[in-house]
Amino acid sequence: MPKVKTSKSNRLTKYVNEFGKEIFSTDGEILFCKICEVKVASEKKFTVVQHISRDEHVSGLRRRELNRTNRYPQCNL
Ligand SMILES: [Zn+2]
Repeated sequence: MPKVKTSKSNRLTKYVNEFGKEIFSTDGEILFCKICEVKVASEKKFTVVQHISRDEHVSGLRRRELNRTNRYPQCNL
């Protein structure tokens, strides 16, 4: 029985779902980080994890959170 090969786009979609649609997007060919606005190497999960732990990414994420908090300071439901 032949092994079912997971297609590239399936893998990329899995990363988007796993890490969040706010963080990553994909067109089926590349994984794109919306926070840093860069293409992320996605050959291995390790490289994706490595990207989201980068200072640049983390501070971008924090900046995004701050913006959201400032915009809705009373929204604490
Ligand atoms: Zn990033």
